[in-house]
Amino acid sequence: MISYPVSFVGLPIGNREDVTRRALAVLEEADCVCCEDTRNTGRLLAHYGISKPLLSLHEHNERERCAEVAQRAEAGEKFAVVTDAGMPGVSDPGYRLVHELQERGVGYTVLPGPCAAVTALVGSGLPSDAFFFGGFLPVKSGKRRRVLEDALQAGCTSIFYESPYRISATLAELAQLQPDARACVARELTKLHETFHRGTVAELAADFAKKNYKGEMVLLIAARKEPRKPLA
Ligand code: SAM
Repeated sequence: MISYPVSFVGLPIGNREDVTRRALAVLEEADCVCCEDTRNTGRLLAHYGISKPLLSLHEHNERERCAEVAQRAEAGEKFAVVTDAGMPGVSDPGYRLVHELQERGVGYTVLPGPCAAVTALVGSGLPSDAFFFGGFLPVKSGKRRRVLEDALQAGCTSIFYESPYRISATLAELAQLQPDARACVARELTKLHETFHRGTVAELAADFAKKNYKGEMVLLIAARKEPRKPLA
């Protein structure tokens, strides 16, 4: 196996079996694992029978840690970089470290793994030939409304991460803007209660207003127009 100074490693988004053999080998080989929450990652690594020194790297210390990791990698330590779920850098810390490594000419690679946005897209049944990923929806109402209006006008499926505490209000807002837009809420992907809630935004808003659905969620909104034809 080719070994890089720093490896960004995709990990499961729920089901612990969704890990690649290469991910386990790289974690096994690393001198240190950078992670968001050392307790979460410690538990996951223990499940795989791996014990490593852990270094926290999260949104509050990312800038300082980037320099430290790059320097230590230059000096010969091997790092694996993971986050609490899925792909590092996707609505998670990662890109600043990639940038730092590029600037310093330190070698790195990315091990692909599960990503909630892509998993939700495939399971949603909405057109998947082209899509827009907007990360977490803004919390402030004015900005959120503008983002939702743009999504309804977009020429492709739009994907957002949304909190279970706000999903009901977001669907109600969407229903006011365009009740017949098709949408999907993908909930608890890869876990025991995985569900794809599909329908018009008016139907979904009514359902989510009645039932207090919990868990992790991805919101997908279909394009108003037919998607462009996939390449032959
Ligand atoms: N890096 C991750 C990825 O590759 O998807 C995303 C991390 S982001 C901090 C966490 C958000 O992703 C959650 O709030 C939820 O919107 C979505 N998410 C993560 N795991 C999920 C799951 N199993 N089912 C549904 N959504 C999930």
